[in-house]
Amino acid sequence: MNTATPIDLRSDTVTRPSPQMRAAIAAAPVGDDQYGDDPTVNALQERVAALLGKEAALWLPSGTMANQVALRTLTRPGDDVIVSREAHAVWHEAGGSAANAGVQLTEIGAQGVFSEEQFIASIKPRDHPIYPATTLVEIENTHNRSGGVVFPHDETMRICARARQLAIASFLDGARLWNVAAASGVPLIELAAPFDLVAVSLSKGLGAPGGSLLAGSRDIVLRAIRHRRMMGGAMRQVGIFAAAGIFALDNNMGRLVEDHANARLIAERLARSRRIVIDLATVQTNILVFQLSPDASDAATLVAEARERGVLINAFGPRTVRAVTHLDVSREQCATAADVLLELAEAPRV
Ligand SMILES: *Cc1c(COP(=O)(O)O)cnc(C)c1O
Repeated sequence: MNTATPIDLRSDTVTRPSPQMRAAIAAAPVGDDQYGDDPTVNALQERVAALLGKEAALWLPSGTMANQVALRTLTRPGDDVIVSREAHAVWHEAGGSAANAGVQLTEIGAQGVFSEEQFIASIKPRDHPIYPATTLVEIENTHNRSGGVVFPHDETMRICARARQLAIASFLDGARLWNVAAASGVPLIELAAPFDLVAVSLSKGLGAPGGSLLAGSRDIVLRAIRHRRMMGGAMRQVGIFAAAGIFALDNNMGRLVEDHANARLIAERLARSRRIVIDLATVQTNILVFQLSPDASDAATLVAEARERGVLINAFGPRTVRAVTHLDVSREQCATAADVLLELAEAPRV
């Protein structure tokens, strides 16, 4: 058993606040956010609204709550929401979309993306006695379960323009939108522009201990404020978290490209194994998802063996594994992790 600090590639959520981030948290002026009195969260909300080119932004404790509040704000029970296949809302929100918003999710496309044509083909018209009305389209960018792929921006613009024509609202689950901007060079404002409402997370690659924001028009954000309260997410001295978020925006945005290069390094090394199936074209940001071929061990075994060797990764399916790079793993650690995984995958199976 490797007793040193493990190389933790389970998620980019595992980062711990640095001493400097903790100092920023300690120094933050705070107040009761339910009275609008927290200057630090107010500053963060204004900053993120400006970054995304929206009128207003709202802080929420988690990305899942941001997604759930977005659904409550933009749909009614019984509505149909078109999402990418294996969207976060489908797999990782404990069925909240059905329980909280009462909507059904229609998954379309493949590998995290879909086309305008596929979108049009799945729209169910409203005012029909049989169909559930499609009132929302949601795009996840980057797409978590598809290996952090970037949704093509021109397709996004076509889909959202069509949605607007048909009075279908549009929502961007941009928990990792910062990574999209870093990888594609498309500015955040342009990435957010086609959407009515945008969610971003501070607790993924940016390394804050918590917090997501929803950004949109003042009217939509006002409605979201009510749903945040209804879901129990309206908190008080949230400047404690917001200070970490501001610190993260100031200090941790520019280095995301390092995470992308490190993911690439791991992926290229793993691709040398015949027993690991990885599509290098999908490794565009800080996530890699790979398959273990039938003559390799299964995902659960690889995860357990890697843990023994001090490398933490996640099983995403019986033979599917995910690894994520972030600011708490160095390039050297990523190289070591790749060597360990390669060795385990290649080891003779008894
Ligand atoms: C992590 C994630 C979320 C939710 O964030 P939490 O803060 O963990 O609730 C939403 N969408 C995507 C695509 C994510 O990867």
